[in-house]
Amino acid sequence: MRGVARASGGIELILGCMFSGKTTRMLRRLLGAEPGRSAAFKHQRDTRYVQRMIVTHSGLSIEAEVVRASGEIGDRLPDGVATVGIDEAHFFDAGLPEVCEGLRRRGVEVILTGLDRTSWGRPFPIIERLRGSADCVRMMTAVCARCGGAGEYTQRLTPVVGGDIIGGPDAFEPRCAACWRAPLEPPVD
Ligand SMILES: [Zn+2]
Repeated sequence: MRGVARASGGIELILGCMFSGKTTRMLRRLLGAEPGRSAAFKHQRDTRYVQRMIVTHSGLSIEAEVVRASGEIGDRLPDGVATVGIDEAHFFDAGLPEVCEGLRRRGVEVILTGLDRTSWGRPFPIIERLRGSADCVRMMTAVCARCGGAGEYTQRLTPVVGGDIIGGPDAFEPRCAACWRAPLEPPVD
């Protein structure tokens, strides 16, 4: 197939709570690729920042294709792309692992970021499935906003309104396991 640069692709999964630098790490890799050799995707559900851009809390940004389903990623992949970034993988449907495995077979290096736990401290099923597909899983930690320890949990600071748990930076902070508290409301699915 034209445009495939590498004989062997791979799947790297970067996990952690909010503010752990997951997206910054992915963007550095994408921005370090030769022009035209990388592409970034995000789910339409992730509307915290500017559309058609992935923006980090630290201020890095890159243009991104906005998709509604994992199946659109392969369809929209330009020729010549060797590295694909997929941000906030926990927003995606159950087909994402298969899509990533297909890209790997084509020699593409796939880098995904995702939360490993919901605001209720529970695993995301899609992330658990992606762990099984990944060649490399990298765990990132933030600094606990309470004690300065290793932050592995996302603490939601505002109530859930209408089932919407997507919020800006003000709605969340990183906490260690000891400082984290489960929200009072029942989990939103
Ligand atoms: Zn703490």
